[in-house]
Amino acid sequence: MNKAQIEKKIEKIKQELLILGAMRPGTLSRQYAACQKPGCACMDPIKPKKHGPFYQLSYSHQGKSTTRFVRPGYVTIIRKELAAYKRFKKLTQDWVSLAIEHSQLQLEEARKKEDKK
Ligand SMILES: [Zn+2]
Repeated sequence: MNKAQIEKKIEKIKQELLILGAMRPGTLSRQYAACQKPGCACMDPIKPKKHGPFYQLSYSHQGKSTTRFVRPGYVTIIRKELAAYKRFKKLTQDWVSLAIEHSQLQLEEARKKEDKK
C-alpha cells in the first residue's frame, strides 16, 4: 500500500467509528442456579429443575473487573453493545496498524531524500 491508499483506509475507519452505536466491553454468560430451599424443584434429587436462566455480564475496565446481573429483557441490547465494542476495538487496532505503516513509509521517504543529497 502507498500512503494515499493507507490514508483512504483510515478515513473509512473514521467514518465507521462515527456511526458506531452504544457500546460496552464484556462477555455475557448464562447461568442456572439452585436456591437451596428444601422441597423446591431445583433441589429434586432425581431431576432437579434449576432456576434461570440468569445472565451475567463480566468486564474489566481500567484494571478493575466487575460482574453484574442483566435482566433477561436487556440481553438483546447488551449483546448489541458488546458487538459494537468488539467492532470498535477492531477498527481502532486496524487504525493503529495503518498509522504505523503510514509513519514508516514517511520515514523511508525522508531517508531516500537524504540519500540523494
Ligand atoms: Zn429452588
